[in-house]
Amino acid sequence: MAYDPDNIFAKILRGEIPCKKVYEDDHVLAFDDVNPQAPVHVLVIPKGAYVSMADFTEHATDAEIAGLIRAVGRVAEELGLVEGGWRLLANHGRDAHQEVMHLHLHI
Ligand code: 5GP
Repeated sequence: MAYDPDNIFAKILRGEIPCKKVYEDDHVLAFDDVNPQAPVHVLVIPKGAYVSMADFTEHATDAEIAGLIRAVGRVAEELGLVEGGWRLLANHGRDAHQEVMHLHLHI
């Protein structure tokens, strides 16, 4: 599937739609999910244009991949989740009901 630059997370990255930012660095933006399914529900996204984990792992640079994974750990730490426990998930494609076609990890 080709990346659609008009997806909602692309618009958030361009600042066209607001978000409640939790963390940002050169490679990653993390923000509160607009429809939280848990007391803490944050989305962590790469800044690059990647549809899915398959797209990301095939085409992203090592620095982008390391950046995303390190950011997940850092956000969990900063949100105070590490001691109590937390869940990381990603929905990929139609059968998993991926709604937004920009790779995102749910914390
Ligand atoms: P998916 O099903 O694709 O894994 O999850 C997409 C997530 O994006 C959902 O949890 C949904 O609530 C969230 N979401 C959709 N649109 C927006 C938005 O405009 N802003 C924010 N912060 N989250 C969004």
